[in-house]
Amino acid sequence: TAARDAQGRYALYHPDMGEQITRRQIIRGELRSALENEQFALVYQPKVDMRSGRISGAEALVRWNHPQRGQISPADFIPVAERSGLIVDLGNWILHEACKQARVWQVQGVPLRIAVNMSPVQVLRQDVVSMVRDALEATGLPPDLLEIEITEGVLVTNEGRALSRLRALRDMGVRLAIDDFGTGYSSLSYLKRLPVTCLKIDQSFVRDLVNNPEDARLSRVIIGMAHDFDLEVVAEGIETAAHAEFLRASGCDFGQGYYYSRPVSPSVMTSLLGQDLPWMLPQVISRRA
Ligand code: C2E
Ligand code: MG
Ligand code: MG
Ligand code: MG
Repeated sequence: TAARDAQGRYALYHPDMGEQITRRQIIRGELRSALENEQFALVYQPKVDMRSGRISGAEALVRWNHPQRGQISPADFIPVAERSGLIVDLGNWILHEACKQARVWQVQGVPLRIAVNMSPVQVLRQDVVSMVRDALEATGLPPDLLEIEITEGVLVTNEGRALSRLRALRDMGVRLAIDDFGTGYSSLSYLKRLPVTCLKIDQSFVRDLVNNPEDARLSRVIIGMAHDFDLEVVAEGIETAAHAEFLRASGCDFGQGYYYSRPVSPSVMTSLLGQDLPWMLPQVISRRA
């Protein structure tokens, strides 16, 4: 019998053993069949060029549309997939799907750079480079339209192995972004050894930007550091016009967040690409002024 516990989590109670199976175990049991039954889908969140207000790229984010449980968040199933090893097949599917969609947009005349999140488990595998090459070749997407987002975590425990894999990806022409920048515990010295092309300011610094001078200062420091290293900088979690204006005025290159758009289906993304969007207006005006 299925029931929800006090925290609202699903739990199954096995009558004879009194054993409790947690939501996490249910997820683990159902992940592989979910991949086989095509229950995963990608949504896309625009990355906006803060100078022009135009959409210049998109981050692909995976969703699990569970037939009984509804949509399950990646925060709930990605860690489980990493531990079970399914992240390799799932990650490969995500990579192909995102490249295929980016190629469609490119052929339609809107070459968007597509960002794909890659788990440390994938980065540390020997075949990561050939997997990325296969996805690009199979879909015909030019390598410079693909950006791979990794977190600093991958560099902490296996720096040597990660660096050589990431260098090989960069040599192929693929772009590399450090996601959630500023929240890891790794030394910044990797910035001189790793051919990163972009830093993403974590949303935890953006949230209180307007009221918290420390967060405002940190964001400005990251933007300055990125530019010193000739890197692009993206701020994530932009939810208000005030966030956008502060970051734009601080020289941030790109913005991403609910203020611009939630992650959307490919067809909604296509329609966004053909429109003049409301957030463009003040920026166009301030650029002209
Ligand atoms: P992330 O890569 O840092 O992605 C940003 C997360 O912030 C996304 O959550 C996005 O929907 C959310 N977000 C975007 N704008 C805003 C905003 O203005 N306010 C707030 N509060 N949130 C915003 P999501 O899609 O639930 O993904 C969570 C995390 O799961 C991702 O963090 C990433 O670490 C992981 N993930 C998602 N898709 C994939 C994937 O395809 N592969 C892998 N390996 N990990 C993924
Ligand atoms: Mg990301
Ligand atoms: Mg992030
Ligand atoms: Mg994150």
